[in-house]
Amino acid sequence: MMAADSGSSVLIEKEFPKSEKKKTTYDVIIIGAGPAGYTAGIYCSRAKHDTLILSGILPGGQLVNTTEVENYPGFENGIMGPDLMITMRKQTERMGTTIIDDEVVDVDFRHKPFKILTASEEYECRAVIIATGASPRKLGLQGEATFGGRGVSYCATCDGPFFRNQELIVVGGGDSAIEEATFLTKFASRVHLVHRKDQLRASKIMQERAFANSKIQFHWNSEVTDISGDQKVQKATLKNTKTNESATLNVGGIFVAVGHIPNTKVFENRVELDSQGYVVLKDHTKTSVEGVFAAGDVHDHRYRQAITAAGFGCMAAIDVDRYLTESK
Ligand code: NDP
Repeated sequence: MMAADSGSSVLIEKEFPKSEKKKTTYDVIIIGAGPAGYTAGIYCSRAKHDTLILSGILPGGQLVNTTEVENYPGFENGIMGPDLMITMRKQTERMGTTIIDDEVVDVDFRHKPFKILTASEEYECRAVIIATGASPRKLGLQGEATFGGRGVSYCATCDGPFFRNQELIVVGGGDSAIEEATFLTKFASRVHLVHRKDQLRASKIMQERAFANSKIQFHWNSEVTDISGDQKVQKATLKNTKTNESATLNVGGIFVAVGHIPNTKVFENRVELDSQGYVVLKDHTKTSVEGVFAAGDVHDHRYRQAITAAGFGCMAAIDVDRYLTESK
């Protein structure tokens, strides 16, 4: 199709009228759409800042992979994790936040306005909130993926109460594994702590507490090599790495507590990260770059709860509001 007189620019204008051009400049861009990102969006939009959330390809964060959430206040009878995140998203959009399901591939925080790049677009903004969260480290077993949400869990606080009177496995030897194993003894008939070494990395006081707990049975120098079941987890195979002997345990659940990986690859050399890759906070939610803030599991490896992430999202948005008001 050729325009009669005017060349290609008119053709482009006709096919892509100016009013439909994608908006790429915002006051605030929030990267990540878990509880921290959505809460930050709600607060930024209510403070009348033009706000965009770049949610990544799989929005919703870790709660999308959980089943029932009983510990998020406001839901008397609990709520399914994916439903909670859909509700948060709708609430955020209703407040006026734009949400685009696109993944950030690079950021330029050297000059203002900041530039945020996705594979197809370049956005500009005056302030950024990093809320990309962290992902639980996986064991890498096929059964782990098959039984995710059906017996395999990465959060005892979230899922422990669903496993009353069952035998459970906790994998790992750090503070998280010991804390989770100890917590799970409130519900489980027995907790098998499976650790690949012959000593724990966890703090001494937590170790002592676990050793004194008769419900925890330790399996040293051991790995889970297979997870199986019908509709949900029923069995796990353990291999002793010293003797190469294998054994089968009948268990209802497997809690993997082998650490988390913060989702900060794209921020390497852009903001200060600690040795584990978590964003370093300088003053409340401020990062090493003025105008760039962080909220949720991307900086917080201690609490890692949906409600604490949401709280950090609120704090970051209030800090952004002050920053934008002062720097106008
Ligand atoms: P850590 O990195 O401290 O420990 C991870 C554990 O998982 C280690 O024992 C490690 O084994 C094991 N591991 C790692 N990869 C694998 C694998 N592929 N297969 C089997 N085992 C594996 O992580 P945590 O989440 O425990 O703790 C993170 C941080 O949070 C720490 O600083 C911790 O102190 C802190 N924390 C503090 C708490 C508290 O104070 N109440 C509670 C929870 C966490 P290996 O020992 O062989 O390396």
